[in-house]
Amino acid sequence: ILTFKDIWVEYGEKIVLERVSLSISEGSFVSIVGPSGAGKSTFLRLALGQEAPTRGQVLLDGKALLPQCDPDRGVVFQRYSVYPHLTALQNVLLGLEFAKSPFLGRLYGKARRDAIQTATDMLTAVGLQHNLNIYPSALSGGMQQRLAIAQALVKHPRVLLLDEPFGALDPEIRLEMHDLILRLWAQHGLTILMVTHDLQEAFKLATRVIKVDKRRHDPHAPHRYGSGIISDVTPDKTKPVPL
Ligand code: ATP
Ligand code: MG
Repeated sequence: ILTFKDIWVEYGEKIVLERVSLSISEGSFVSIVGPSGAGKSTFLRLALGQEAPTRGQVLLDGKALLPQCDPDRGVVFQRYSVYPHLTALQNVLLGLEFAKSPFLGRLYGKARRDAIQTATDMLTAVGLQHNLNIYPSALSGGMQQRLAIAQALVKHPRVLLLDEPFGALDPEIRLEMHDLILRLWAQHGLTILMVTHDLQEAFKLATRVIKVDKRRHDPHAPHRYGSGIISDVTPDKTKPVPL
């Protein structure tokens, strides 16, 4: 579904990703691990179309990526994925409305009712049906991440990008989130790319684990430094079995 073709990302003399070529198959759950500063988030931003590579191409179904507001991709970060000044329902409506108006300003009658229903259904799917009119500050960390996931999935994207989504959560809450994300993955037929620092989490959830590694010293270009060799830790396992 996603193809990275000979990707380089460089900031001045610093190489963040070097010669990355890889294909992500539809329906897979890919965990991305590696040391801090290695280029994991950069890799996700490429997949999101938020950042352009210095060289190379990122393709979605063989076509060059559109800019970031693409209904085919949803994203959740470790924190601050949701807007504090909007209620849970408004946050999800924002995902639905594509970052235009969370207040349904342009929607009337049936379209308005449908939008509210769709957002409510998504909030129900993540277990927030009793918190529609609550502001994020009144939600626990786990609930905020549930809300961020609802916002990311309400448009039914095909690819979900997660950047350390559970990193700030207690172990027990993490386990609940694992169940949730595996259920949504199967139910929605998603392709998931998830960055995590937790190797156990990476191997538990994913069909494939890839590692972003430190760059080897290059005697021919000793002034070049950075990281960003991507390699497979595990080969891709079979596709998920729908529940
Ligand atoms: P972490 O685990 O800490 O989140 P990461 O693997 O996600 O790290 P990235 O955020 O992708 O790492 O950053 C990779 C490298 O690229 C870092 O060394 C960072 O300093 C550098 N970098 C990222 N964005 C820029 C930028 N806009 N300008 C210069 N350097 C950048
Ligand atoms: Mg990061």
